[in-house]
This record gives sequence, structure tokens and C-alpha cells, in this order.
Amino acid sequence: MKKKTLILALAAAVLCGLTGTHAIAASTDPDISTLLSEVSKENVEKILKKMESFHTRHTMSSDQENIGIKASAEWLLAEFKGLGTRLQVEMDTYELPPQGRRMRQPMTMRNVVATLPGRHTGEQERIFMLHAHYDSYARPVDKDWPRDNFDNLAPGVNDDSSGVAALLELARVFSDHEFDATVIFVAFAGEEVGLVGSTLMAARLKEEGKNISGNIGLDMIGNIEGGNGVFDNRRMRVFSAGPMDSPSRSLARYAKRVGEHYLPSAEIDLIYRADRFGRGGDHTPFVLEGWAGIRMMEANENYSRQHTVNDTFANMDLDYCTRNIRIVGSVLASLAAAPPAPSVTSDRGRTLLGRGGGYDAALRWNPVVCDDLAGYIVHWRRTTSPHWEKTIQVGNVTEHTIPNVTIDEYVFGVSAVDTTGNQSVISAYVMPPRTKRVYEVKK
Ligand SMILES: [Zn+2]
Repeated sequence: MKKKTLILALAAAVLCGLTGTHAIAASTDPDISTLLSEVSKENVEKILKKMESFHTRHTMSSDQENIGIKASAEWLLAEFKGLGTRLQVEMDTYELPPQGRRMRQPMTMRNVVATLPGRHTGEQERIFMLHAHYDSYARPVDKDWPRDNFDNLAPGVNDDSSGVAALLELARVFSDHEFDATVIFVAFAGEEVGLVGSTLMAARLKEEGKNISGNIGLDMIGNIEGGNGVFDNRRMRVFSAGPMDSPSRSLARYAKRVGEHYLPSAEIDLIYRADRFGRGGDHTPFVLEGWAGIRMMEANENYSRQHTVNDTFANMDLDYCTRNIRIVGSVLASLAAAPPAPSVTSDRGRTLLGRGGGYDAALRWNPVVCDDLAGYIVHWRRTTSPHWEKTIQVGNVTEHTIPNVTIDEYVFGVSAVDTTGNQSVISAYVMPPRTKRVYEVKK
């Protein structure tokens, strides 16, 4: 997003003028605010009702007109294609033989993919992915329901048409704007039978040498009524795999900072765990390939409406779902508009953090390639703190020393910021691991 007018002067003044160790408020990019205002509740409602109309989207449902997984995949493909020529839309298809407990017949996995190319291509290309799953599953209502009839009713509106609605609606509003980074929207198949579509696509992208800067999985973002009677239409949860300063966790902290800035009524809870206890999501195959990934979802689950025939539009909260789509949109747009995150390791993989020859914190980083870079921000916090505590704007330099702050007791990080105020994810200086040594001993 490139609109450099008054904001440029303002951002430069802020960056040059302030060097305090206060927390720096996130900046508002007016283009992102506009984009968020374009998200339409009416569109979200239409998408959710259409997804429900397929009766089932079970991965092994039979091919019928307007019913089943294939009809829903074709509808999604046509919807993405209808959003304009800037989106490159394709079906990412895999033929699979029967395997495992949940895939008892040959099947076709169709991931529906829409790519919005960024301004930066070639070596400078960065890719952010937003995904959800469009397949559904419902447990049999009673023992008379045939277990092997995959055409049984499985509306799957919250799980996960809510995420699919976010994909379609955000792809629509994003395609009117231009970003530095490439954004890929994917509706995955086969999540309910073992994260199959996402696992296959993640492996393919890895094999093709693609580099994914971050991926956000949306799975169930529209329920406010917990099965335990708790109502909550404020909070959203973000799951991220550790350790404490993993790329996924940095992405999660970014989501909280940006989401709560653009949607001040929201509370974004970071859950320092890869996913819900013992359960899975489509972000995980990407994390397992070595890329940053988070899962964003509702605060309270209702198991009586999950994987049941009660997962209907009537049991969802449209306002909450739409607000969550705006939160996700703010995070994704900021990531795609911001400069790349600075690398804080040398070519040989050494952490660029030292004691400055004494008792100071001496940070260095590699410059980022960005045509509207304003400068860098240094962050630090106690090792026990889950969130960054102190920040200092240091201008367009590639090193900074904080006097009399010991590197043993704090975690440090650095981010890049552009002239509009869009900030990158914070790159943390991670303590190098020690490896076990073996010494020879005379026998
Ligand atoms: Zn799901």
C-alpha cells in the first residue's frame, strides 16, 4: 500500500523526534482502515448461507448437482474468479488412494487457491497465506445413521464456513489494493480427515523452494455461545507453537498488537500452544515445514454444535464473525504492506547480539530491502515476560547499543517500519543452543 503524502512527513517526525523507552503505539494506515470498512456483513451472510446449502461438504461425499464437496469446490473457484483479474485462481488437485482410518475410498483433494501478487517479485518476493477449510463433518445423529454414508447432513457453518467467508470477503476487498508482499488465500480440502489438503500443499510448496513468510489459519471464528454457558463476543484466541521466540510466536504477538489497534473493542488472547489440547489445524503442516504459522479462532467453543448437524447459520453470530474477519484483515494487510522483518543473524547463522565490550546490549541487524523504509525499532523485555515491554525508535541504522542493559536478563528484538507506519514482525535475538560435547578419556 503506497500512499505517501502528509503521512510521510508525520511518520518521519515521529521516528526522528522520539527516542524514549515507552511502548510505541501502532500506527494507522488509512488504506487499511478503508479496506476494513469495505468488509460487508451482508456478503459474509450470503457466503455462510450458500456454504450451508451444499447439505454436506464431507471429503468423501458423492458428486451431485449443488450438493457435496465437489459442487462446493466448484462454487468457491467460480466465486474467487468472479473477484477480478488481479487474483490468480486455480484448483490445486491431488488424487489419493484409500489410506488410514478416515480415508476409506479413493478420493480427489481439491484446494481452491487465489493468489494476489505483490509488488515485490523474484528474490524480494514474500508470501503470506490466509487459509480455512471448506470440507465439513458431522457425527451420525443416532445409531441408525449409516456410518459409511458420506452424504449425511453436515452443514459445517461455523466449522469452517466462517473461515471460508473470511477468505472470500478479504480476497474481494484486498484485490482493490496493492501490497508489497504476495497474499495467497486457500480454501483447503480434507481437514476433517487428517489435515490432508494443507499437508499436501505445504509439502509441494516446500519442494518447489517457495518461502512462506507467515501463514494464518482460520478455523471456527463465529461462535459466541460456549457449550458451558459462557457468552463472549469480545475475545479471539491466537494459538502459536513455541518456543517462546519462535517465528510463529512472533507472528502471534504481531496479530495481537495490530488486531487490537485496528479493532479497539477486541481482546486478542495469545495462547502459547500450537493448537487446542490434542487437536489440530491447517496451520500446523506449514509450521512443520519450518514456516511461521498461527491459528486464529473464537474464544469459546460449543461441542454440541461442532461436528454435528447443529453447526448451522442460525447457531452462529454474524456480527462477531464479521468483526473477526476485520481483525484478521487488519493483521494480513499490515503484514503484506509492511517492510520485511530484519534478519538478526550473520551469514554464518550467528546471533548479532553482543555486550559491546562491556555491560551493554549491542544489537546489529541486516538492512531490509524496502523502497519506503523509515527506519527500525528496537524492542526488549524481561525473559519471563510474554510481551515486549520497552521500545525505542532508532532511525535508519543497522546497529544500536542500549547502555547498562545486560543481555543475560532480557530478550531483544528489532522490527522495520515504513513511512506510513506499517511495522514488520519483530525478529527476536534467540540465544544460541548449546550442543552436547563428548570428551575422550584415557582407558
Ligand atoms: Zn475445523
